Amino acid sequence: MKLLQELSSSLNRLFLFELKDGNRIEAVFYRGDTLCISTQVGCAVGCKFCLSGSVGLLRNLSTEEIFGQYQLLKGRIPIRRIAIAGIGEPLMNLEKVLSAFWEFKRAGLRVSFYTTGFPYENLRKLLHLPHNGISLSIHSLREDVRKFLLPHGGRLERVLRVLEEELPKMSPRRRKKISLAYLLIKGFNDLEEDIHLLGNLAKALRLSVTLLRYNQTVPSFEDVGDEHYHRLFLMLRSMGVRVTLSTRFRRDELGGCGRLLVNRA
Ligand code: SF4
Repeated sequence: MKLLQELSSSLNRLFLFELKDGNRIEAVFYRGDTLCISTQVGCAVGCKFCLSGSVGLLRNLSTEEIFGQYQLLKGRIPIRRIAIAGIGEPLMNLEKVLSAFWEFKRAGLRVSFYTTGFPYENLRKLLHLPHNGISLSIHSLREDVRKFLLPHGGRLERVLRVLEEELPKMSPRRRKKISLAYLLIKGFNDLEEDIHLLGNLAKALRLSVTLLRYNQTVPSFEDVGDEHYHRLFLMLRSMGVRVTLSTRFRRDELGGCGRLLVNRA
């Protein structure tokens, strides 16, 4: 595996790696301290708002290839945090992801995850790791809308059942590290009643919400706009829900959400 190329925008630095079999994957450095890394070559979930899954799943990455993205960059950029949020669904390659996770921890790094929650039994294991954050992709409380947006991301009902069973076993401090990620998409999941359902779920589970803006550089859908975003944010806050706001890094054309590619031309 080798570092092939670096591309930069005013916000993000994108790194292209070539694997031994010739496939190419990507990682992004953002916020001045965080490296977002990939766990698979492609992705089987096929989220409609993400280009990483457009080739399907070609193969899993090995532990060396997951950890290698950090190893090849650590001398050049000040990495303090790893976001396992690049190409791939980490729960679909959990064994290799876990071995890499422990290597990251041994290197003194903070490690957080983004996941759809499927396979369900792997979510159960992930929740109890000494991670520094899990954002669980919800995106709609309506099963049909979620299935449309995340075609192979599992059933929401099953994901929520795992949370209901596992969260009570966790301390309040560990519970605070888990949030429900909700990507607002104009006309799909942005009604006040959608956000009301989300707020009620967050309160019932005692979890925070990460309220994400759509990355308009992925052409599939539309962003809800500043005003509507702030209205929905205030609505959640007025319900007593802790809300983390979307960041500009996520909406960049280079390395923003949904923009990582397998075998970039
Ligand atoms: S958002 Fe994540 S899970 Fe969905 S297709 Fe992209 S890489 Fe896969």
